[in-house]
Amino acid sequence: MSNMENIDWTSLSFGYFKTDYNVRATFTDGKWSDMEITDSETINIHMAATCLHYGQEIFEGMKAFMGKDGVVRIFRPEENLKRIQSSANGLLMEPISSELFLKMVKSVVKLNKRFVPPFESGCSFYIRPVQIGITPRIGVQPSTDYMMVIFGGPVGPYFKTGFQPTKVAIFREYDRAAPCGTGRFKTGGNYAGSLRATARARAMGYSAVLFLDPKEKLYLDECGPANFFAIKGDTYITPASNSILPSITNMSLQQIAKDLGLKVECRPIPVEELAEVDEASECGTAAVCAPISEVYDFDRDKAYIIAKDGKPGPVTTQLYQRLLAIQKGEYPDTHGWLTTID
Ligand SMILES: *Cc1c(COP(=O)(O)O)cnc(C)c1O
Repeated sequence: MSNMENIDWTSLSFGYFKTDYNVRATFTDGKWSDMEITDSETINIHMAATCLHYGQEIFEGMKAFMGKDGVVRIFRPEENLKRIQSSANGLLMEPISSELFLKMVKSVVKLNKRFVPPFESGCSFYIRPVQIGITPRIGVQPSTDYMMVIFGGPVGPYFKTGFQPTKVAIFREYDRAAPCGTGRFKTGGNYAGSLRATARARAMGYSAVLFLDPKEKLYLDECGPANFFAIKGDTYITPASNSILPSITNMSLQQIAKDLGLKVECRPIPVEELAEVDEASECGTAAVCAPISEVYDFDRDKAYIIAKDGKPGPVTTQLYQRLLAIQKGEYPDTHGWLTTID
């Protein structure tokens, strides 16, 4: 077992970190088991399990933070609960009971409290629930049995070199999801489908792909693992689309934008409108906001330069700082977004 004193918080990346315990539950014979605590890092499943062959896999991601006051707070776990239940329905999997999920999330943090990074470190504790279909099947059918595993570990700040904008790419020859497909569910298959496009963008010096709506390729959708928003005058704009994953960070930023007196528009955003925006950013749990300096449309050979000075915009910076301050317990939690761990 590693000692807390031995963890070098400054060198933490956003990656897997072994902790003391993870928690699990299974759905068999028509009911969920109670939560089980284990120190095993592996799971034992049948080689014909539906998660392996037919993609019955859904997951979540959320964070817990140690406050200056030593209190550990989890950010909006009820929203992750609603979303994993929605993903389960989308993939014809058994939705977990609300009480069990929230108990598991809180327990995994409590059991690994010595791995929750201190306030000053700028690090957080990332929580990863994953649910899989485990019934052996060869014919295409949903499982009748499911497993939920929730593990977590300390992760470093997303921006090692500070809060800096990066460039993103548009390619019309790839989609991450289909128009009426699984884009709005948090399932691994969407990620598998976005890896090739993302690898191509990275190889060319872009941090991510900004996917377009898969039906017409006229409107902005989202990045591989993150939503998109822009600031245009006094308005926060973010795409409305059936193939986007509803980001909890985006939802929270929209509320903060309103709190700061901005207007919020959730509507289709034509690619060309990028020429008129003042700021643009990706958003998601890992980074909160990842500002965008430039969007390069490869098919039209057109660069949309957003951050002319190469710096994050003032509104994006304000939104980012406010959300992070709420998560860390430094700014009043007026919307009831935090769950404290006792
Ligand atoms: C998880 C995820 C996001 C971000 O959602 P948050 O709840 O803000 O972390 C955005 N897009 C996709 C495709 C995702 O899987």
